[in-house]
Amino acid sequence: MSNNLRDATTRAFPNDGLCSLISAHTEMTNLKENYHQLTSDLVNVKRTLALVAALPKFFRERIMLQQAQEEVKRLLDTRAERFLELVRLQIYERPETPYLRLLKHAGCEFSDLENSINRHGLEDTLAKLAGEGVYLTSDEFKGKTEIPRGGMSFRASPKDFYRPNSSTGYTIQSSGTRNLPIGTFSSLEWLTLQAFGQALFYCAHNLFSCAHAVYEPILAGSMKFILTYAKLGIPTDKWFALNVGAHGLLEARYHYLNARLVAKMGRWFGPGIANPEYLEVGDFKPILEWIQEKKHNGQNSCIRTVVSNATRIARAALVAGISLEHVTFTVGGEPFTRSKKRLFEEAGARIALRYGPGGDSGTSLGCGNAKFIDEMHVPQSVVSFVENPRVLDYGGPPVHPLMVTTLHPAAPRFLFNVENGDYATMITRDCGCPLEKVGFTQHIHTVRSFEKMTSEGMNYSGSDLFALLEDTIPSEFGGGPEDYQLVEEEDDRGQTRLTLVVHPEVGDVNETKLLSRLQQGLAQGSRNHRFISKIWQDAGAFRIRRAIPHASARGKILPLHIKQKN
Ligand SMILES: [Zn+2]
Repeated sequence: MSNNLRDATTRAFPNDGLCSLISAHTEMTNLKENYHQLTSDLVNVKRTLALVAALPKFFRERIMLQQAQEEVKRLLDTRAERFLELVRLQIYERPETPYLRLLKHAGCEFSDLENSINRHGLEDTLAKLAGEGVYLTSDEFKGKTEIPRGGMSFRASPKDFYRPNSSTGYTIQSSGTRNLPIGTFSSLEWLTLQAFGQALFYCAHNLFSCAHAVYEPILAGSMKFILTYAKLGIPTDKWFALNVGAHGLLEARYHYLNARLVAKMGRWFGPGIANPEYLEVGDFKPILEWIQEKKHNGQNSCIRTVVSNATRIARAALVAGISLEHVTFTVGGEPFTRSKKRLFEEAGARIALRYGPGGDSGTSLGCGNAKFIDEMHVPQSVVSFVENPRVLDYGGPPVHPLMVTTLHPAAPRFLFNVENGDYATMITRDCGCPLEKVGFTQHIHTVRSFEKMTSEGMNYSGSDLFALLEDTIPSEFGGGPEDYQLVEEEDDRGQTRLTLVVHPEVGDVNETKLLSRLQQGLAQGSRNHRFISKIWQDAGAFRIRRAIPHASARGKILPLHIKQKN
């Protein structure tokens, strides 16, 4: 610190210079965060008004099944040329985009790309380019790390990938970088494009005749499911709003009013949308009563939620002796494993899986004749998935990350070979379900995360855990950097739990204190981390176990280990 600055600091904070400086810095950070929040709320209010104005027309132009089939076929037929046009306009005519730097570095001009796609097809071209360094890891995409390729290195910003002109839509939950929350703004046009595929998904799982309910926190993100139902002419019979998730009272009210407004529009101009009804965490009675009421009226029911919540509902039904034979859960957000499947089978429920690669970039849709536990169709009309085998920075066997490329200008962000931290097995097979028949021939299964924890349907970046588990916790509770490891695994009842594994050689530890320190540490950083940590905490997802942390093939112990089942 320079003398001038030290003097100024001492004058400004005469009692205890350093402490006051830290506290002032914290306050400034909070103020900055609140300011960003306020401005983003104002933007959201403006967007809500625009959304409400657009909804009558959106609801009126309902998608019929035959139209969905035709539109998907049309989108599939034109995907390569649409992608090329997108690349020409959004990459080769925008010299500042990080993608152009990567393509130029690989020596790929627009004509080369065009020739390769015409000759070898879109997927083979994308995979070849990835091998030449034209891809982004999720941390590179978020601007968290440098992008080193060959001799060059640079950094991108999330803003580099936004759609240049956004139309009417809604903001999906913030998933920001360390301090500044960033929401994904998604348009009604994009929702409509995806709804064509959803129509075939509902057909494949026989869901059009069901009574539909949604069990999600009230955030603008859950609006997507409700609006999709309405676009397909399906009423939302119940909107069970999980009572967690808002960052403050004001925000909670904002989301609630927003939801009420959309529900009202759905009743006036759409097929009907129930008002959100708050449920306390763990209170499944109203859901089970609704299921029974529908059954009594001779109607099957369908509940949209995340995998963990569906397992809780299934368990509550088993305890109460209620059969879920006429119930389908449309779930996503977490790995769907054999033990979870067993639980649903025991309860009698059926599952229609979904998998969103993040940032609302095209949801994969559960196969109607699945051969694998979590087999889904890639919505090739709007995205392309390609594998990119590579060894991670911190060692271990090679992983095959999924890379996502968006193929339509209406996508919230233009992704070109962007990893999302997940890997999956990709196959082509003729399953014969309505999704296959329309031309979604690419299937994925065994979708797992290699760098994110996905418990409770929320993603948390694994790289943020290094400091907490390798420095902070050992310094406060004893042991060293490889003595603590967070493990995502399933307990005996098929529930996803986050277990903090503590090496037996670390002496006596106050487990209550350690657990609370872990939760506090996980909540630090962005608002998103606080939010996710709160959801895990409410769900009782944390526990401690004394054991030797899992080591990778090369002996490296990572702060996060995702336990592989099946
Ligand atoms: Zn299928």
